[in-house]
Amino acid sequence: MRTLEVKDIVVHYGLVEALHGVSFKVEAGRIVALVGSNGAGKSTTLKALMGLKRLTSGSLMLDGKRIDTSHAAQRVGMGIALSPEGRRLFPRMTVWENLMVGAHTVSSAEQRGRSQELVYELFPRVKERRDQLAGSLSGGEQQMVAIGRALMSNPQILMLDEPSLGIAPKIVSEIAQVIKRLNRETGISVILVEQNARLALKMSDDAYVFEQGLVIRSGSGQELLNDAFVQKAFLGI
Ligand code: ATP
Repeated sequence: MRTLEVKDIVVHYGLVEALHGVSFKVEAGRIVALVGSNGAGKSTTLKALMGLKRLTSGSLMLDGKRIDTSHAAQRVGMGIALSPEGRRLFPRMTVWENLMVGAHTVSSAEQRGRSQELVYELFPRVKERRDQLAGSLSGGEQQMVAIGRALMSNPQILMLDEPSLGIAPKIVSEIAQVIKRLNRETGISVILVEQNARLALKMSDDAYVFEQGLVIRSGSGQELLNDAFVQKAFLGI
């Protein structure tokens, strides 16, 4: 199991500073929600954790070791995986081929088989559609494939960027339950970025509220659901 510590990270897009010193901790086996409005820096944070955005300053510690100089592929090997915003599947490849893209760093065929079985068990619909082109699936099914692809690298920390975006409410709650079950049964930590703050806070053990590139509130999901500022800003209460 792995503990990830994000310490005072600053990230730029060109001259624009998007994160101004973000800190939070992901304890092993927890579901951690990052909530906040558009442009608050949540996706940028996930990209920085994955190694897709360079840090200007600050550090990322995995089990006490600095990982912020390693490449994305190395971080996959360390047990970190990202299901990106917008899913980013290969639409003209089959569902199975898309899953295998996620397993390209895994050399053991046995491990690939175990991950595939886990994905099929969590998402029976993905199994049913394994020979279909990914582009022909519904939005919800594509989201399941995107999460499945991230799971194929056998991660210990699974990062999900907006899994509910553009998906029918029924499927959103189905996917939410699968994520909870995955966390409970396998102990995989989850970092969940969501615009749907109510859903994310309900699902999470720990949560952080982002605003304009900073963490402005933190607490348990339940604490933040009861927080007057959060209720007014994000829950419409
Ligand atoms: P969203 O839900 O809209 O993705 P977010 O909280 O994930 O919101 P980010 O996408 O991380 O926010 O954006 C943080 C800041 O960085 C914003 O000011 C955004 O405009 C800026 N930004 C994001 N991506 C780029 C980019 N590729 N080039 C320049 N600026 C960017």
